Amino acid sequence: MGMRVDIVTLFPEICAPFLNTSILGRAADKGLFEAHCHQLRAYTTNRQNQTDDYPYGGGCGMVLYAQPIADCLRAVAAQAAAQGRAKPHVVFMTAAGKPYTEEDAKRLAACDDLVLVCGHYEGIDQRVIDAFGDEELSIGDYVLTGGELASLVVADSVLRLQPGVLAEEKGYQEESYWDGLLEYPQYTRPEVWEGRAVPPTLLCGNHTKVDAWRAAQSRARTRARRPELYENWCATHPAPIPRWKRAESARLVKTPAQWQAVAEIYRACTGADAGADAPAPAALPQEAQGQGWAFYLHETAANPDAVVAVRHATGEIGWLYVQPAARSQGLGRKLLDFARKKLPEHPAPYLQGVGRHTALYTLCLGMGYTPAPGDGLAGECTLKMVYTRQNETAPE
Ligand code: SAM
Repeated sequence: MGMRVDIVTLFPEICAPFLNTSILGRAADKGLFEAHCHQLRAYTTNRQNQTDDYPYGGGCGMVLYAQPIADCLRAVAAQAAAQGRAKPHVVFMTAAGKPYTEEDAKRLAACDDLVLVCGHYEGIDQRVIDAFGDEELSIGDYVLTGGELASLVVADSVLRLQPGVLAEEKGYQEESYWDGLLEYPQYTRPEVWEGRAVPPTLLCGNHTKVDAWRAAQSRARTRARRPELYENWCATHPAPIPRWKRAESARLVKTPAQWQAVAEIYRACTGADAGADAPAPAALPQEAQGQGWAFYLHETAANPDAVVAVRHATGEIGWLYVQPAARSQGLGRKLLDFARKKLPEHPAPYLQGVGRHTALYTLCLGMGYTPAPGDGLAGECTLKMVYTRQNETAPE
């Protein structure tokens, strides 16, 4: 027996056609789920079949009575029980409800019977929500005239997850939000449309390369369009640390030539340039040495390309800079990992002044650092990121 969805509404004629059309219509015909739309007016007990009244306390608009909704919900529960189903899960669609997400869709898709109640006018008498509702959901930060579209949004996103509704499970598992990221861009024929070509990687026929390109696009899009989603994804998907290659090394900076290389990387990354009268910013790393910072210079095939520093007295990590030309190869991850392992005496190494929504911030999140308690709550734009990864074997 497939999932059952019940929509309680004053306008079943809006909802039923949607559920009977296209992918959902075909799936319902195959018996993969059953959907029922209930006319609320049929449950009124007054002579005029009135469903609403003025709000107590005054104000504009009308409020839906509790009684017809309660009786309709009791009738639905009785129908479900007669089919041997579990107690229905009752959701009230309200603009003030919890924002609906794909995670909710996954959760609700496991219900045996899902009941969606649509409000109208000014809304619904709160007492019936309190008495019968398992939860209130909102489909977004805007107000609709009624809950019909909202209930269809929930029904559609839940029903497409039912086994067999989509041709392949992969169909929804690769889509936006499933794994916390937005989907990569999609293309179809022709290869060139009005002078715009399909990205060449998609035509190369190498699935590993295509997958890597799509994954990178997905991360970049999410980072640019939905930084809060991206941060969440980074925090829940530990970043793998790339292997060090034979030609790579990171050495304690001691010689003038090494300090010069550090200064050049610093200048290339920060744009700091010594003006005629200004103090030479490139000298800053060397000055920092006097404040207890130990600098490490990373080289690939004897070419200096990144720098990081640690402060043993405090457990602080800082001065992490990767030459622009050497980015996107995991060097930042390697050096952050390297720096933490240089501080085995500190259980919770930290970075100061990390800008929110910066690459360093998401790098830290992916490597087990979280904002220090209290940081960022008052809207500060730079945070102290503290290493908090649990259950890790001691750094070697
Ligand atoms: N007075 C309500 C308020 O300010 O929150 C808005 C009532 S709205 C005009 C009428 C009905 O539309 C609601 O009872 C609810 O069922 C539905 N509705 C409106 N916006 C919604 C949203 N963003 N998500 C879910 N349901 C919504």
